Amino acid sequence: MDSFPRYIGETPETVLHRVFGFASFRGLQEEAVRTVMNDEDALVLMPTGGGKSLCYQVPALCREGVGLIISPLIALMEDQVAGLRQLGVRAAALHSEMEYQDQLTVQEDLTCDQLDLLYISPERLLTPYSLNLLKRCRLSLIAIDEAHCVSAWGHDFRPEYRELAHLKQRFPHVPRIALTATADPRTRRDILTALDMPDAHIFMGSFHRENLFLQAQPKIAEMQQVLTALSRHMGQGAAIIYCGSRKKTELMARQLREKGYTAFAFHAGMSPADKRAVLLRFRSGEPMVIAATIAFGMGIDRPDVRTVIHLEMPTSPEGYYQQIGRAGRDGEASHTLLLYSGEGVARARYWLDESQAPESEKKAMQGRLESMISLTETTGCRTQAVLACFGESLNEPCGHCDNCLNPPSTFDATEAAQKVLSTIYRTGERFGIVQLIAVLKGKMTEAVERHALQHLSVFGIGKDKSDIWWRMVIRQLIARGAIGMVGEHGGFGLRRDAARPILRGDVAVQLREDNSLHALKNVTSRP
Ligand code: ADP
Ligand code: ZN
Repeated sequence: MDSFPRYIGETPETVLHRVFGFASFRGLQEEAVRTVMNDEDALVLMPTGGGKSLCYQVPALCREGVGLIISPLIALMEDQVAGLRQLGVRAAALHSEMEYQDQLTVQEDLTCDQLDLLYISPERLLTPYSLNLLKRCRLSLIAIDEAHCVSAWGHDFRPEYRELAHLKQRFPHVPRIALTATADPRTRRDILTALDMPDAHIFMGSFHRENLFLQAQPKIAEMQQVLTALSRHMGQGAAIIYCGSRKKTELMARQLREKGYTAFAFHAGMSPADKRAVLLRFRSGEPMVIAATIAFGMGIDRPDVRTVIHLEMPTSPEGYYQQIGRAGRDGEASHTLLLYSGEGVARARYWLDESQAPESEKKAMQGRLESMISLTETTGCRTQAVLACFGESLNEPCGHCDNCLNPPSTFDATEAAQKVLSTIYRTGERFGIVQLIAVLKGKMTEAVERHALQHLSVFGIGKDKSDIWWRMVIRQLIARGAIGMVGEHGGFGLRRDAARPILRGDVAVQLREDNSLHALKNVTSRP
């Protein structure tokens, strides 16, 4: 290890040039680095790809001692360590998935003052053994990566992060720097409180990514919608399709291969060897599509992801933004498409209601889910809407999201809403969307016949509109909470608080016209 150069006492600029090869700091990096150099605490909020790592790597090299980086993601740790060692930095990781012998080597290097940066998992750090070991070392700083994990309000709560509050008493003179890409005001407050860093300087970069083009569509013809989205960047860079289940990833990858795409599935149930093989090809830079569960993406740093598609609605704006944030890290125009459905929204609400999570956590999750639902149905600029979730206001509409390019009109749907709600009520609040539409349209289906629904007064009251049109109305009534799932089998019932005023005619219902319906007709008719 002795051959590694050392930089203690050098200026941050020198380290930035000599070690990392960059000409200058970007955005708020310089001030964040200076804060740590001055022994003060910092909280850095920047989007994925914003350049958070340098904020602790540079001061760790300039200062005496080893910089401790707490990170929950082992894969990410390994990547960072490998990258740093290539740059000639004495970096190492310590986590429970390492060979025992390797752990010993790292601990030895640590005690012999042979490390500049040590990445460590929170579980590992919090063992009495590690804490004692570190107590005997000189620490240059403590970085807490993915700091939002400390917040029960956050989308990725990890209880062990709570224990990190004690770091202040244990290492009172070591500056701490917390970093995250999640920036809603509530999470921010939680981080400062839970990590006991009330005086931290806050550095918040803009989360606005001008090269991301946001688009959301009701799911009508999934495969066609996917193919249309992929065709935009045909043959260039990578695309990620987030699927709702492992099975779906396999199916989607197979279907895309049949269409001539290089496509792979990726999910947590695959063997480590298979996963590694996919990651290797993904990193090689060849054009491809990955159909994945959300297990894919942690620490994925391919700059030319051109497209990110969600086949199901994420359950929080934070998760959504983090996932689409994997697109366009090279700054080039990149497109995202969110497909959503009434059933998906209702199912997400249903499972959350049924969840055994503590009440306060559940409330937080419900709040985020409802923000996400509003985001899908918004008629305003989608970029403004998503940034608003992080407490950031964009003065002007972005000009290139789907709603900006093609502003949706709204229409009075009071009568249509009443027809839907009456149909649900009269049929006994137990049928799914397909059967409800059959009744509205007066179609004789097997279920209609079996339950003698053709004799009801609501049978055929919606003949004048198409199935897709009724789907749109039902979906938006779900979104506004007038309809909900009554069991796990997909039957729908009224949610009285929102449904009653509509049925009584006390409130008018304005719905958005789905522009994508027209667009899709063109797609469907393409050869
Ligand atoms: P984050 O951790 O915020 O997701 P990273 O620290 O991984 O972001 O940085 C994202 C990319 O930006 C990396 O490829 C990094 O090398 C590059 N980068 C960061 N800071 C600078 C800089 N000052 N000049 C040039 N490139 C930078
Ligand atoms: Zn917009």
